[in-house]
Amino acid sequence: MCRAMIRSVGAGEIFALDAHASYRCRHSGACCTAGWTIPVEPRLLPLLSSTWLQPDEQGTCPQYDCASGLCGLHCSGGEAMLPESCHHFPRRALIDSRGTSVALSHFCPTAASLLLVNDRPLAVVSMPEAFPASRAYDGLDARGAWPPLLRPDALFDDESYGCWERYLVGAISTSPVGVHETLLNVAATAEQLRKWHIERGTLVDWTNDVLKQRSAPGEAVRHRYARFSGVEAYRRVVDAVPPTLDAPSPPDDLDQIEAQWVVPFWAAHERLALKYVAAKAFASWTAYQSRDIRTQIAELFTTAAVLRVECARTCAAAAAPLDRARLIEAVRRSDLLLMHLVDRDALLPWLRQAEQDDDAR
Ligand code: SF4
Repeated sequence: MCRAMIRSVGAGEIFALDAHASYRCRHSGACCTAGWTIPVEPRLLPLLSSTWLQPDEQGTCPQYDCASGLCGLHCSGGEAMLPESCHHFPRRALIDSRGTSVALSHFCPTAASLLLVNDRPLAVVSMPEAFPASRAYDGLDARGAWPPLLRPDALFDDESYGCWERYLVGAISTSPVGVHETLLNVAATAEQLRKWHIERGTLVDWTNDVLKQRSAPGEAVRHRYARFSGVEAYRRVVDAVPPTLDAPSPPDDLDQIEAQWVVPFWAAHERLALKYVAAKAFASWTAYQSRDIRTQIAELFTTAAVLRVECARTCAAAAAPLDRARLIEAVRRSDLLLMHLVDRDALLPWLRQAEQDDDAR
């Protein structure tokens, strides 16, 4: 089982999504007004006289200057003066034997806008300008842990896992069909990949062969992932938010909101929704925290379910139809829930139900 842990380091080659490769903070203030309590490291105690920066009733950090949109600590001492959590946000890394893969939280409006500025396909790039190797990155340090498991009795190697990761990012972001059908297709490919056996040759060759083919989803695949779709999946995610945090809830009249504000406009924005789901396949912690690629697929279905409900919530709040701006807002809300509110330890056992064989369910 994976023995990975959270650390704050940078290591080896740096990877990122091409859409994020030019990221830099544009001082939107979203993270400084999110109501987050910021831990203060000992080096800053003489300056701040407190171990926490507590937000005010509007959710604003005491160091944030609303007029200028700037952080007081940053202004006085530069980036090095920021608390660690502010220094790292919105970056979230996966550090493994391949290098450091830097994903971004799309709760940051800048990250969300970069991702959704166009519907061009996503790709993984090496050594992007925005993420220098000299910087530290906070994330899951999986060096020394087992590689991700293809299935409970078979490990990936670095090369074959890299092929699988790039396949997911590319195939989902370029898919000509809708989000749900796309995920069923990659789920079918995953089932094919799981059929590897030593007698079939090397896992790298098998992976390259399978990923070139088209696999059609059968009834078993549809059945396996049904629970990770729709509003029930959204509710399972919300249930994994600790009670001390402010969890969202789906609107009571979700069906009506969907029919009025989302469904008629969805097709025009589905390519952007696919990009968001594809981005979640990159730098996956879940791949290291599960025992089967089925769990990774379940997380992608769940991500799509969360986005769809957040689109409805966003449109309901605005009493207006889905457009690009509201989709970006829904993506921000989705990552707020999935990356900042959810207790992953509480969510993972549910996602891992996807690993069960049919006869065990
Ligand atoms: S310390 Fe600065 S960067 Fe961090 S939340 Fe407060 S204002 Fe924002």
